[in-house]
Amino acid sequence: MRQYAGNVSAPRILLVEDEASIAEPFARLLAREGFEPTIAATAARAVALYEQEAPDLVLLDLTLPDGDGRDIARELRSRSDVPIIMLTARGTETDRVVGLEIGADDYVVKPFSTAEVVARIRAVLRRVAAQDEGVENTPGEPIEVAELRIDPAARRVFLGDEEIELSRKEFELLLELARNAGTVVTREDLMARVWDENWFGSTKTLDVHIGWLRRKLHDDASEPRWIDTVRGVGFRFAAPDEDGAP
Ligand code: CA
Repeated sequence: MRQYAGNVSAPRILLVEDEASIAEPFARLLAREGFEPTIAATAARAVALYEQEAPDLVLLDLTLPDGDGRDIARELRSRSDVPIIMLTARGTETDRVVGLEIGADDYVVKPFSTAEVVARIRAVLRRVAAQDEGVENTPGEPIEVAELRIDPAARRVFLGDEEIELSRKEFELLLELARNAGTVVTREDLMARVWDENWFGSTKTLDVHIGWLRRKLHDDASEPRWIDTVRGVGFRFAAPDEDGAP
């Protein structure tokens, strides 16, 4: 695992935020916490600094003077798998993030608790480091549920002949559900296994990712083929022998 403190190189965080009253104190806090923050106050600067600094993680404000954070997220995502945490204002901005698929790993709502954001940054970086080094999840054999095929080693998903492009979180979520196909996985277990064992924030991000996953699997929440919502408990992935599956 990578180290985040001490004499090992500090993870570089690109903080894209135009409000100096938020960006500057937060950058100082990140530095105290052992990160190496760089601030970009505009969309143009964000992309330039991304190329220059090759950050380990991007914190991305949704509303910038010269652009939309979602466009930057898409732009970065087309270039790399860098983890992205979106920063949004409460209310309609959150809905815009929630309603759209932008390839972000997570989002937080302003005004945010800096402790919570730091915890989320650490959680995301731990996940990525574990995946890079393959220490956390032994990939295992491909999983097949009817016409759905998941290859954990290659991190690829096929629905019939169609390859489904998933973000890192969507893939982990699908894998966790499919590994337990036919049984209910609780919200708490999903948050702990896919996000962080010490998760203490909102679990709305789980519903957001489930929504994205459903859309990509062409699933319908009101009449699910793949992912059943078990209200107040969690989610259940279709068993291999359901709905005409072999
Ligand atoms: Ca802003």
